[in-house]
Amino acid sequence: MSYSENGFFDNFGGKYVAEVLRRPLDELEVEFKKAMKDPAFINELETIQRDYIGRETPLLFAETATKLLGGAQIYIKLEGLANTGAHKINNAIGQCLLAKKMGKTRIIAETGAGQHGVATAAACAKLGLDCTVYMGEVDVRRQQPNVAAMEMYGAKVHPVTSGSRTLKDAVNEAMRDWAANPDSTHYVLGSALGPSPFPDMVREFQSIIGKEVKKQAAERKLDIAAMVACVGGGSNSIGFFAPFIDQKSPRLIGVEAGGIGPGVGENAIRMTGNVSREGILHGYKSRFLLDDDGQALPTRSISAGLDYCGIGPQLAALGKEGRIEFTSATDKEALDAVKFFARNEGVLFAMESAHAGAAAIKLAPTLPKDKALIVNMSGRGDKDIFITCPVFRPAEWKQFLISELERLNEQKDIHEAEIMNK
Ligand SMILES: *Cc1c(COP(=O)(O)O)cnc(C)c1O
Repeated sequence: MSYSENGFFDNFGGKYVAEVLRRPLDELEVEFKKAMKDPAFINELETIQRDYIGRETPLLFAETATKLLGGAQIYIKLEGLANTGAHKINNAIGQCLLAKKMGKTRIIAETGAGQHGVATAAACAKLGLDCTVYMGEVDVRRQQPNVAAMEMYGAKVHPVTSGSRTLKDAVNEAMRDWAANPDSTHYVLGSALGPSPFPDMVREFQSIIGKEVKKQAAERKLDIAAMVACVGGGSNSIGFFAPFIDQKSPRLIGVEAGGIGPGVGENAIRMTGNVSREGILHGYKSRFLLDDDGQALPTRSISAGLDYCGIGPQLAALGKEGRIEFTSATDKEALDAVKFFARNEGVLFAMESAHAGAAAIKLAPTLPKDKALIVNMSGRGDKDIFITCPVFRPAEWKQFLISELERLNEQKDIHEAEIMNK
């Protein structure tokens, strides 16, 4: 299903890494391709997908939304119902299972907002693997709930203090670790990007989303006009689209983070607009937001998962050839979409997924009523209360945080008093 040719999709992709990483990458490619043809591996993967991740995830007919928008029938693929709350677990489980088959005992991962770190930490806990997650020091401070979750799953979170102390520095640090420990360690990359074979591997582990959609749509005899997914690095979208790419239809639409506007540093738009360019970063060639020196430009989005400066090479190629269309949704449109689907469907979209929801709200009325429009809800919005509550209920949320702080301070007083009395 749409594998790369020697690691390339058109002229995107490749394996632009230091010499020391070539052997582990080559070994990984061989073992991955072997595993995908090994009935025992596939059987074990399917069992974990069913019993641990909770697959298959439902395809929900959004009846009220469909009536209100007055066009195509809207269906929502509820990836947010996967264990840990998003699609990232599909990839984390797949790679960790492969690593275990390869005899690795130690897993490392990079994380920005923390979602991939949480998924990897959970997968390692399930499969009995040692886990270290590299995370920029700035992100560690901003994303405490996810840091706490990773530690609860038994992972070690390693704060990265180099550079801007964010995601790209965490990637560099993880690559350095892998280069130093290739025999014991597997690096679980979090999206459908990075040096080959990661884009192929991540797509295959995420393609379970699209395979289920294809089967679910056939069972209900849906005539799919379009499929919409949000695009950060590109793993949920490429997995959702994968079984449909080699067909002429349906339309496949990727939605990038429009942030607060079209200016440099105001969004994370790599496929439309005039800021992004072709370049090489983090081991692969693709479209990036880079400055004239080839350094990553700042990005901005209300959703922490959509603000990476690059896009997976296969998406870049499919965008160039026109098979996948790209659009964007702003922070405001995404927030409106969260409200719309919560109120009308009882489904709370993650901020990332709400970008796809926002595009679907615009697209549905333009499509015929006898056709289906399928939106991938890549994750659920419970994790986003620290973003959505300050917007939707600013005064109440602030009061809540103040009283929580007071409560903690009082508890501390009580605790200290207890210690003193002993
Ligand atoms: C990380 C994340 C994304 C963006 O990553 P992709 O690799 O583009 O899928 C989207 N949605 C959710 C819920 C995420 O956690």
